[in-house]
Amino acid sequence: MEYLEGRLEIIEGDITKLEVDAIVNAANRSLLGGGGVDGAIHRAAGPRLLEETRALGGCETGEAKITAGYDLPAGHVIHTVGPVWHGGRSDEDRLLADCYRNSLALAVENGVKTIAFPSISTGVYGFPMERATRIALGEIKEFLAGADAIERVICCTFGRKDYEVYTRVASELLG
Ligand code: ADP
Repeated sequence: MEYLEGRLEIIEGDITKLEVDAIVNAANRSLLGGGGVDGAIHRAAGPRLLEETRALGGCETGEAKITAGYDLPAGHVIHTVGPVWHGGRSDEDRLLADCYRNSLALAVENGVKTIAFPSISTGVYGFPMERATRIALGEIKEFLAGADAIERVICCTFGRKDYEVYTRVASELLG
């Protein structure tokens, strides 16, 4: 489904297959790989990705770092570290919003025009799905309103259930 005159698209699929300028990785603070989407991205990008992330010295929660995409169809990977859900009173909402904002700002700095996000923090990190979706879509909408440099953002959901949450929240927030 498309929103914001085609500048935001919600799809269901595997983010490692997307031919975009950058895909975002829901990484952990070590940036040395892990499970979930992080593991899938490292497998598809090949060992040179780990070589590059090793040299970055980790990443703080809410921040973002960029690497090449290596064997991925995507040109770059933007690694961001989502907050672990601790019940909602540990700044989780703000930190998750920071992930989207900082990833998009880094994309602009690097000339990225098309970018795909997974649903950050809603896997192993346990952030409630609908609450995370509202933050993701709200931040993307606000960023796109203030930046022409990004042509298209894809929210790449994994599984039918998450796709339905995204499209339901999007029709409410984005019309
Ligand atoms: P986190 O640790 O930030 O919670 P996870 O990787 O555990 O990260 O989960 C983040 C989201 O990524 C989850 O919604 C999960 O279903 C999704 N995901 C897992 N593999 C893929 C993939 N190949 N493409 C897109 N999304 C994926």
